[in-house]
Amino acid sequence: MKLYRGHALIRPDLQAHIYSRALLNNAMNLKRLCAPGTRFCAVVKANAYGHGLHEVVNVLQGADVDFFAVASFYEAIHIAEMVHRQSILILEPLIEGAPPDQVFACAHYDLHCVAASLEAVTYVAGLLAGGIQVLNLHLNVESGMGRCGVEEACAAEMIRRIDACPNLRLAGIYTHFATADEDDHSYARDQLKRFNGFLDRMHLRARPDVLVHAANSAATIKMPDAHFDMVRCGVSLYGYYSRPMANAPVRLEPAMKLQAPITQLKRIAAGESVSYGRSFMAPRDTTAAIIPLGYADGYRRCFSNRAVMKLGEHIAPVIGRVCMDQIILDVTDVPGVRLGQIVTVIDSDHDSPCGVYRLAELADTICYEILTCVHAHVNRIVH
Ligand SMILES: *Cc1c(COP(=O)(O)O)cnc(C)c1O
Repeated sequence: MKLYRGHALIRPDLQAHIYSRALLNNAMNLKRLCAPGTRFCAVVKANAYGHGLHEVVNVLQGADVDFFAVASFYEAIHIAEMVHRQSILILEPLIEGAPPDQVFACAHYDLHCVAASLEAVTYVAGLLAGGIQVLNLHLNVESGMGRCGVEEACAAEMIRRIDACPNLRLAGIYTHFATADEDDHSYARDQLKRFNGFLDRMHLRARPDVLVHAANSAATIKMPDAHFDMVRCGVSLYGYYSRPMANAPVRLEPAMKLQAPITQLKRIAAGESVSYGRSFMAPRDTTAAIIPLGYADGYRRCFSNRAVMKLGEHIAPVIGRVCMDQIILDVTDVPGVRLGQIVTVIDSDHDSPCGVYRLAELADTICYEILTCVHAHVNRIVH
């Protein structure tokens, strides 16, 4: 199978510092919220939430992590040979008609796949029939997320079909919450009740070889009775609550800081305009700094004239439109500013004026999107 490795461009001037200590502490602190023996699944989809798939898996390999969850088969294959102790769960369902190579590779690497239809179960059973390979399957039971979960009656039939097939192993049953991050938990509690009902009717808790899992980060932090056999943590592993949280029961440290150098300094006279569309008119004689990064690198265009960056402890506003690969800062008030000076674009502090929560607020989005937007060609430096 062709794997497309090693042809990626990296930009050494754009630096995402990845703090392994933060990742390890977050994993440990999240695990401490769970009963002993609860498995921990590190969700590393979307290039490990923008932190670098390879880098994060490398750091967490040595940690007390039992599973890595990825979105697609291709991500799983990308890390399959790096990971030795942990299992890999592919969240995207395996569909009927999937390339046979893919199904055999999943069995070969002992990957944990998700089946989302009876047809898919029949299809993979047919492919593996007569061989010695066994494929691990997890079922996503619909409890109210309204995405790729399977209705209960169908899930029940799928379980019977899997149990009857020597080449398939029912490795997990799970569900996913739609609102665990919201203050009002009533809908999440209804989902939990539906899921528990299914587990009871199907006697799934009496099967120690079937992993039951439901909790994302928010439910790991706020719903201990949703932990079951394993929790699946994404955003909190990287140091964030799904949304800023007062009095959180767990300490989380942001694991990434994005920095870039000043590549040009120039004077802009009062009354002159800056960047496309002339959305910024210098109200005074201004010292402007150019930073070689833009919306193509994941720094959103809507930050134009709104966000700030940090130079040491000094704050410099973004002036004019964010361009594809360039941003202009007002550094008039930064003493001793110089060419090559390193600027913090996205900070690793919850309360920073250029922290992820603040940027998410400015972009009217969630912290996930700010993190995952950091382009793969940004150089990840692991500390
Ligand atoms: C992305 C994802 C998670 C992780 O969610 P966080 O809110 O980042 O913890 C867990 N489970 C499933 C099924 C997911 O798709």
